[in-house]
Amino acid sequence: MQLAAPAPVAEAPLRLVELPVPEPGPGQVLLRVLACGVCRTDLHILEGELPPHRSPVVPGHQIVGEVVALGSGADAIAPGGEPGAPSLVVGDRVGVPWLHQTDETCRFCRRGQENLCEHALFTGWDVDGGFAEYTVAPAGFVYRLPADMTAMAAAPLLCAGIIGYRCLRLVGIVGDDAGLHAGVAAAADAAEAPDSPAGDPPAGAAAAPPDSPAPKRLAIYGFGSAASLCTQVAIWRGWEVYGIARDEEHRAMARELGAVWAGESSDDPGVLYDAAIVFAPAGELAVDALKRLDRGGIVALGGIYSSPIPPIEYPWIYGERVVRSVANSTRQDARELLRDAAAVPIVSRVQEYGLEQANEALLDLKQDRVRGSAVLRVAEG
Ligand SMILES: [Zn+2]
Ligand SMILES: [Zn+2]
Repeated sequence: MQLAAPAPVAEAPLRLVELPVPEPGPGQVLLRVLACGVCRTDLHILEGELPPHRSPVVPGHQIVGEVVALGSGADAIAPGGEPGAPSLVVGDRVGVPWLHQTDETCRFCRRGQENLCEHALFTGWDVDGGFAEYTVAPAGFVYRLPADMTAMAAAPLLCAGIIGYRCLRLVGIVGDDAGLHAGVAAAADAAEAPDSPAGDPPAGAAAAPPDSPAPKRLAIYGFGSAASLCTQVAIWRGWEVYGIARDEEHRAMARELGAVWAGESSDDPGVLYDAAIVFAPAGELAVDALKRLDRGGIVALGGIYSSPIPPIEYPWIYGERVVRSVANSTRQDARELLRDAAAVPIVSRVQEYGLEQANEALLDLKQDRVRGSAVLRVAEG
């Protein structure tokens, strides 16, 4: 499904075309695409909010595929940039995310911020992506997937999941600086406390000690695919989630996933948030979130595109409050999200489409008709 030139999604700008099966270049793998997730970024590429980087282009950057051929040298590369990971063989099932490749040499790459690489290539924007039967990707930038997860369920993890995970990292919910999730923390406390009776089973999340700190509060603005996935990780980490969405269906989904409260941005939850993530591309939500943020809190803006942010009064950001954007992701984000997805385990709610229904899926996304994650089923497997 190829885009020749940006146009409103209602005009169905993606066209079904017959293209040759791509040849894997040096260090690349050829994948038979099984499924590809549909993301709001694809919508921004279709409609031109993101300027074309390549034309025509095949969008799609949440790809699950099966390795069918390896280019020269690909058998010597550790997938996902993970030191020591066994190299890929024909038949492996892997995921391809938005970050297609970096130069691995610029000042950002050298200091562990490859998401900011000045020469990064993005899947489905700079190179052809996964709204197709076959695609190629660098072996060092694809990831093995949780074994018991179907291709349809794994696809949304590859952008919505990873970007949501990076948002969680930047607000302090996952990563080196984050506390362990309640169940793990309670078990660790019990093991360390000198007066705790030996042989006690590890306490679960519900049995956290009474003197454990109150859970912190995360607000999520825009309850689509990324929100539905990172809500599950945040709750697993012991945080309370507050879901904010324009329509009741998305608020209902937030509640079903365990949010303690769901409402519209103008509703008062009666509490202040320790962190907020804004996925909806509306700049005024950054200010709405800031006004409900506790001292020292962080608002992370998870979209690649947003309407302008209105002026911020100084008292709203005083108290060491932070507003920051989230740009792309690192391979570490991808690896850790996939690890946690298997451990939680994350459940994807998928709205299924055929490959040739890509325009329809994107129109549904634009008109808030997707519950959970829209995914194209490209092949069985
Ligand atoms: Zn770089
Ligand atoms: Zn995306």
